Amino acid sequence: MEGRSQQFVAVLGATGSIGTSTLDVLVRHPDRFKVSVLAANTSVDHMTSLCRLHKPRYAHMADSDSAERLAEAVADCDTQVMTGADELCALVQSPEVDVVMAAIVGAAGLLSTIAAARAGKKLLLANKESLVMAGALLMDAAEASGAVILPIDSEHNAIFQCLDSNDRAVPSLDGVNSIILTASGGPFRLWDADAIYSATPTQAIAHPNWNMGAKISVDSASLMNKGLELIEASWLFRMPASRIEVVVHPQSIVHSMVRYDDGSVLAQLGNPDMRTPIAYGLAWPERIDAGVKPLDFLNMGPLEFEAADTARFPCLRLARESAQAGGTSSVICNAANEVAVEAFLSQRIEFGNIPIVVENTLAGLANQEPVSIDVVLKQDSLARQCAAAEVERISKGA
Ligand code: NDP
Repeated sequence: MEGRSQQFVAVLGATGSIGTSTLDVLVRHPDRFKVSVLAANTSVDHMTSLCRLHKPRYAHMADSDSAERLAEAVADCDTQVMTGADELCALVQSPEVDVVMAAIVGAAGLLSTIAAARAGKKLLLANKESLVMAGALLMDAAEASGAVILPIDSEHNAIFQCLDSNDRAVPSLDGVNSIILTASGGPFRLWDADAIYSATPTQAIAHPNWNMGAKISVDSASLMNKGLELIEASWLFRMPASRIEVVVHPQSIVHSMVRYDDGSVLAQLGNPDMRTPIAYGLAWPERIDAGVKPLDFLNMGPLEFEAADTARFPCLRLARESAQAGGTSSVICNAANEVAVEAFLSQRIEFGNIPIVVENTLAGLANQEPVSIDVVLKQDSLARQCAAAEVERISKGA
């Protein structure tokens, strides 16, 4: 980066919801940022237009057939197309990258996120699954290399802003009593348990406030997303799960809060638009325009808060229990949830089966110490097999 006037940015998950918002912020600041790497999986047409627009030095497709097709489609451009997991890790670690937006969805984002942390990059962390799966390893890698981790999840970004960071990458917890994560409550907040059980994928994806990818939208509907965020927060802010509260706030204006020992509560507010946390992460410790509408206090209506109901939304309880159990419990929880959500989206199981798959998978596997990425990946794979068998059993009505 030394001697460069712009920061070179790798956008992983470029074709997704976070990737799209990130590129929207980046193009507003061509003086500050240059897109040097774009990465996706199979969306060849979308990547073709992104390559033409942003002219990255490298484009990466996890799927090798898609990489071949992209290479043909951009043969007349200066973009070099790559594939392979090792190649993606090498790309994020290269000197041509200063900032990594980790926005691949799910466990697939783990290795590239760890690679960025090991290489001491400025890491904009949207992929919560990597903290849920390998929180200790990721945080230790960042500490050892001096990598700055800036949370992009709006709740964690809000907490980061409410803590006394004093321009330090690791904010102080002095005088902090607890962290309060706000949850919108999702599309089923007011539904009864039976209706929630048999909700359809279309209903689950229709989030009232946020426009997000399918997987995280389903997680928001089941409150698993809040549970994963609780685990994420406990790693990011080195805070035990017992000191992380969850409060339902249907308007999604207060993005989260920090409760201090003296009775003060600091909150970060804004319209529900991911470009705010993304711009914050990109410019930190400065502030830049994100293209987000200003908050209109006089017309936004009342702000409401209510308790999260773990009886109707057992995924939140399961994630909290995983956080408290420690070890690879959260790896199992995350993997089982990914398998269950996929099965729900492809209509093999009901929405109400998602927590059943997660709970039975957690009960069926022994907790271990996540001492290495290999242990984490092995446990992830075992949990997927176990969860797939559960899905099979449920879908056959056994
Ligand atoms: P999307 O589903 O919209 O996008 C996912 C992105 O990941 C796409 O670019 C997709 O590429 C890519 N991808 C999928 N599988 C792979 C793979 N195996 N290897 C490489 N790339 C892959 O997801 P979101 O943008 O909604 O979410 C991204 C991450 O950010 C998630 O971890 C989510 O939890 C987190 N997050 C999202 C928020 C949001 O508002 N959307 C808010 C907070 C956190 P392709 O198009 O080719 O499939």
